[in-house]
Amino acid sequence: MIKLTDDIDKISGVGKKKKELLLKLGIKNIKDLLENLPINYSEIKEPLSLEETKCGLKQYVKVKILGFSRIKKAIITKATDSKQYVELIWFNSPFIVSTTKLGMEYVAFGYVKKDNRGYKIIQPKLFSIQEYEKMIGLIIPTYSLTQGLTNNSLLKIIDNVFSQDITFDDGFDKELCNEYGLLSYDDALRKIHRPKNPDDIKNARKRFVFKELYTFMYRMKMLKNNASKYKNDFKIKTQITQKQIEDAMGFELTRVQKQSIDAINEDLKRPTPMSRLLQGDVGSGKTIVAFTTLLNTVLSGYQCAFMAPTEILAQQHYLGLINLIKKLNLEINVGFLTSSTTKKNKEDIYRNLKEGSIQVIIGTHSLIWKDVEYNNLAYVITDEQHRFGVNQRQDLAKKANNPHILVMSATPIPRTLAIMLYGDMDISIMDELPSKRIPIKNKVVNADYERAAYNLIKKEVDSGKKAYVVCPLVEESEHINCVDVHTQYEKLKSFYNGDVKVGLLHGQMTSKEKDTIMNEFKFGNIDVLVSTVVIEVGVDVSSATVMVIVDPQRFGLAQLHQLRGRVGRAEFQSYCVFLVISGDEVESKRLKILEKTNDGFEIAKQDLKLRGSGDIFGVRQSGDINFKFADIYEDSNLIVEINSAIDKYKDAGCDIILEKIEDTI
Ligand code: ADP
Ligand code: MG
Repeated sequence: MIKLTDDIDKISGVGKKKKELLLKLGIKNIKDLLENLPINYSEIKEPLSLEETKCGLKQYVKVKILGFSRIKKAIITKATDSKQYVELIWFNSPFIVSTTKLGMEYVAFGYVKKDNRGYKIIQPKLFSIQEYEKMIGLIIPTYSLTQGLTNNSLLKIIDNVFSQDITFDDGFDKELCNEYGLLSYDDALRKIHRPKNPDDIKNARKRFVFKELYTFMYRMKMLKNNASKYKNDFKIKTQITQKQIEDAMGFELTRVQKQSIDAINEDLKRPTPMSRLLQGDVGSGKTIVAFTTLLNTVLSGYQCAFMAPTEILAQQHYLGLINLIKKLNLEINVGFLTSSTTKKNKEDIYRNLKEGSIQVIIGTHSLIWKDVEYNNLAYVITDEQHRFGVNQRQDLAKKANNPHILVMSATPIPRTLAIMLYGDMDISIMDELPSKRIPIKNKVVNADYERAAYNLIKKEVDSGKKAYVVCPLVEESEHINCVDVHTQYEKLKSFYNGDVKVGLLHGQMTSKEKDTIMNEFKFGNIDVLVSTVVIEVGVDVSSATVMVIVDPQRFGLAQLHQLRGRVGRAEFQSYCVFLVISGDEVESKRLKILEKTNDGFEIAKQDLKLRGSGDIFGVRQSGDINFKFADIYEDSNLIVEINSAIDKYKDAGCDIILEKIEDTI
């Protein structure tokens, strides 16, 4: 009998190759597989005519077969929907000729492409009319995939799991589930993967969201409760004046920056651990608030740790802090630790941290590794908190005597919601941008304006500025009709023909390669950085004034807003071009929101309004804000319910099961 914690290859049909592909999606065990929820659903409806199809989507089209021809390994089948003609093209599928009848009607399923020679569907799946009629009304989930793994094969693997006689349980309190009308875990899993109707999806999703938010909020409460139970006896004094910081940075601090620094300084003086959320939209200048208070702690004789979600960001903070220390004429030993730190360096860093000669350590998750010990860690800062789990923050807190914790976030949420979501954390909100900023000019355009966008980049580069071009995909994919980062890179190189230096950055590069490129972009001679969303959080290159986002329709609005925050970070006019190449969504209301406002909170609100609460087929990858399943805007009502449920049900079983599962991985 299989268990949730069993490795994925326990499932029949998952061999070495499939296992590797699933690992790429982050699926290691059965729980991962089952909790890898569909990103979308499609309901099978009446087939379309060719004219009704949309480019870039898999669709069902009713066609009559007119004739076959062969070119090398391809079979080209001419067909018609009685108005238009279409070529159905198969490779390496000689059996098509014998299994398909001339003059018969079928429903073809695949990506419909239209070029100047007419319609085409490559490697479509054919259904007989009778077969298709039986399918009408079915709801088919679509999953996030990786090259080599089809939606169908993933569907089959999941079916294999469900076909076993087993009831899955995640230990979440049954009474609680009853009280709040939640499905059982087993029910929720089956309904989300094999829904019979839209309500199934809605109810199942609610179960996952509820549990996820519950666990998160419960842990946040614990963290705070524990913190206020304990005392620390750090004696941290304000050592650096705000005037000194302003002189060193060459700008005036905003009113909200000053307030936040004051509030944190006060917290640091108290004998109880601080637990504070610093929330401010992209570009509001959170980093300097963190640095100022960090310096006060170090100069009072204690160690600080600063965690960033990515290596690029950690590197940036490291360089930024070193620079500030230099300008202030201070002597402070700052260490840098990430997973790509060499073994020898790592050992040195561990020793120096333990002995206390490293006063500040900046890095990624590596700061909470088992082997890392601190001498007198008093202050922990995490940037862009949503990339870290509560567990990890707890781990870091364990490494010291109740250190002060500052969590920075650019996720715009109203204070009332934040208070519930983050337990009783104290909250500082920075709702004001540095005054010299000029609002970013935004435009949603289609492929006709592609050259104009590249010319805009050229113009800006000629005056010493830099630009980002962001693409959704790393590699070309036959499944998703979207521009990939390599193709885009080549395209720009040939467009500029050496006049503009183009660089390439994506998540599959090694950290060393990424660093080199980032540094060349920041300080060297790369003018245009073509990249995937690896630059999403926090990257700060103030001379960057143009961002072109290719196929923005593939990103969530919150993510697009974060991306856009990479420009407009200084006193120059900046531009953001949303370039829709593989689709016809230029008029999309969603993207228009970004054209109209630069305010993160407004965007989140409008997005929610547009999607509406009944929009269950629009279940998105909710990854654009923090959670695997939950969306803090859409689920704001649940947050209120959960807040009161926690008082009654405490850990509700979720804590325990989580621990168990983590142990087995
Ligand atoms: P975020 O809040 O998104 O992390 P950063 O801390 O990276 O923002 O700040 C964005 C940019 O604004 C940085 O280049 C920073 O040096 C600059 N900055 C921060 N505060 C001010 C200010 N008060 N006036 C002008 N520029 C500022
Ligand atoms: Mg930041």
